[in-house]
Parts: sequence; structure tokens; C-alpha cells
Amino acid sequence: MKLERLLQSQGFGSRKECRALIRAGLVAFDGNPEDNPFAEISPENCTFSVDGEDWQYRENAYLVLHKPANHECSHQPQFHPSVFALLPAPLVGRGVQCVGRLDQDSTGLLLLSDDGQFIHYWSSGKKRVPKVYEVATAEPVTDTQIAALLAGVHLHDEPAPVAAVACGRTGERALRLTVTEGKYHQVKRMVAAAGNHVERLHRSRVGGFDLPAELAPGEWRWLDEADLVRLA
Ligand code: URA
Repeated sequence: MKLERLLQSQGFGSRKECRALIRAGLVAFDGNPEDNPFAEISPENCTFSVDGEDWQYRENAYLVLHKPANHECSHQPQFHPSVFALLPAPLVGRGVQCVGRLDQDSTGLLLLSDDGQFIHYWSSGKKRVPKVYEVATAEPVTDTQIAALLAGVHLHDEPAPVAAVACGRTGERALRLTVTEGKYHQVKRMVAAAGNHVERLHRSRVGGFDLPAELAPGEWRWLDEADLVRLA
């Protein structure tokens, strides 16, 4: 693959912009500068640097972000910064999107990718991927509320009741809820329909993949092969 194309595929701008970066001497392979935009590079296992920052070629980007509160899962945020502002520019440049959304005030596990099939698979409610939420409630959680969430509650605009696949109390005003759909404000609406109110909402797990403990709010990391297997 020609070097300018390789950089473009990794999100460093248009072909013309990538050519300019290369010609300016800002690109190196294994520490050796390369200023020929048309140099043939084998992308497999290729590591390179742009303006002193190290990168590895990736055909697709798969990552996990610990979403902090007060960030919007949108490229055009209205009231708060975008989660995309937490990522390096080339990841946004290569078209990384959120895999399903979290509300601006929700925190926790957010997957992102530029692989359309991956995004569709993991965000489609039809696949019934379990998503685990840690919920802090305004009122004490009752057995009746838990029973209602497990049996199914009626949500406005939903023809059939929506049920949690698992639900248990984790504190006087806290519960852990697992749902498989991805409906708008689903957990908040379910908890409200059961007679309580969500104060804070944190997603801790998607499929078999837990939010990595080492990620502080606002931090992200690449997903590796083992993570992708765990996710499935
Ligand atoms: N359900 C909600 O109500 N909000 C979220 O952010 C995620 C699930």
C-alpha cells in the first residue's frame, strides 16, 4: 500500500493532507523517516509515527471508552462536550462511531468502532446482547419494584411490556439491571414505570466484556483479540 494511502486509511486526513505530512518529514517507520508519499508499505504489523506519536496500522478500529458524565454520544453535541473530544483526532478522522449510546448523564462502558458490521451487530436490539447497568435510585428499592422489572413494565410507545433479564438489589437505593434491548432511555423509563427514579446510571458490562478497571472516566483503550472474544 502506498504510504499516503496508508496514512489516509488511519485517519490522518485527505490524501493531499497526508502527502503534505509525509513531505514535511513528520512520518517515520521504526524510527526511520520516510518522506516519499508513494513508498510501498506492507500494512501488516506496521508501526509508524506521525509528528513523534506512535501508531500501529489497524484495518478497523475497535475501542472501549469509560464514558464520563456530562458528555454526549454525538458528533454535534448540544449542551455538553462530545465523547469524540476524548479521542485522538485520527480516530475521529477515520470515522469511529459509538456502538449504541449512553445518555449524557450516564457513565461507563462505551464501545466505539469504524466497522459498520460490528456497530450494527452490537447496537441492534434484535441481537439481544445483554447490557448490565448499575443503577442508583432516588427511593429505596422494593421487592415489588424488582418483581415488576423482571416481569415486564409498560413503556409509553411500546406495544409489549419490557422486562429485565436479570435484576437484583445491590444496596438500599441501588440495583443491578440487565437488559437486552437498546431502547431510548430504556433503563430510566423502566425504573420509572416500576415506581422509582434513576439518579445515576453506569454501564458495567456488554456481552461478556466488563468495563476495564484500569480505565478512569474519560480514558479509552484499543480492544484486543481477547476482548473481542469475551464480548461475543
Ligand atoms: N438506559 C437509559 O435510560 N440510559 C442510558 O444511558 C442507557 C440505558
